[in-house]
Parts: sequence; structure tokens; C-alpha cells
Amino acid sequence: MCMSIEKIVSVDPTRFKLNPDNTNDFRLTGFHCCACDIFVFGAATNCQKCTDGNVIPVDFSGDGVLYSYTLIKVPPAGWTGTTPYVLAEGELLEGPHVLAELVDTNPEELFIGMPLKVSYAVDESGKQAVAVYKWKLSD
Ligand SMILES: [Zn+2]
Repeated sequence: MCMSIEKIVSVDPTRFKLNPDNTNDFRLTGFHCCACDIFVFGAATNCQKCTDGNVIPVDFSGDGVLYSYTLIKVPPAGWTGTTPYVLAEGELLEGPHVLAELVDTNPEELFIGMPLKVSYAVDESGKQAVAVYKWKLSD
């Protein structure tokens, strides 16, 4: 008899780390450019601003603010969530902007600058459980 222990995997390990043995242990990741002192979301070998190669990987705090948002009524192909949904551009405290769904919110109550926190949801519609990073309102 075959038995498999299903682990949750990250939707994009270069941007979102999730400890499959401790699902409370997750973070967005990126890099810091030592030459021009900026932070960028996601993986890179050279700085996107100054092109210097002296970049180091970092884990972000997960705290941010609402920079911009829109209500999506027509989702992209393959979308497995509910519609309509709020697509938010959040600004991490370290500076990078992250585009993600803003969950568990009423779009009528949103305002620019409100505090956000990185969260995630597990999509189990495929063969493997996939953790997708999301924004939620900060407590
Ligand atoms: Zn740079």
C-alpha cells in the first residue's frame, strides 16, 4: 500500500519561503544591494537599479502598507479563488512593492496607507498543495 505524506510547497521558492514542517514559519524574500542600499523582492544576481553584483539575500519582515489596489471581476485563466477579489500592491517596510491578493477584507473599507501583513493561502486544486502568498490587513 502506497502512502504519501503531503507537504505544502511554495508557489515560488525564490520569493516565498515556507517551512513545510512548521506552516507558521513563512516569509517573503529578496535581496539587498550593498552598492546602492535598496531592497528588491525576488531573486536576482545583479541589482535591478545600479546593476552591481554585490547583492545579498534577505528575508523581509512581512509588514507593509497598502500602496494601491483594484477590484478584479474577471480573473486570469487558471484562477482558482473566488471573484471578485482585491488585488493589492503593498509596500513592504523595507521598500519593495509586492502584488498579491488582499484577503478577508471589504473593499469599501480600504484606504491607501493602511497597514498590511503578509499571509498565505493553500491552493489544493492541483495534485500538490501550494502555498500562495497574500496580503491581509494587519491586526
Ligand atoms: Zn544597487
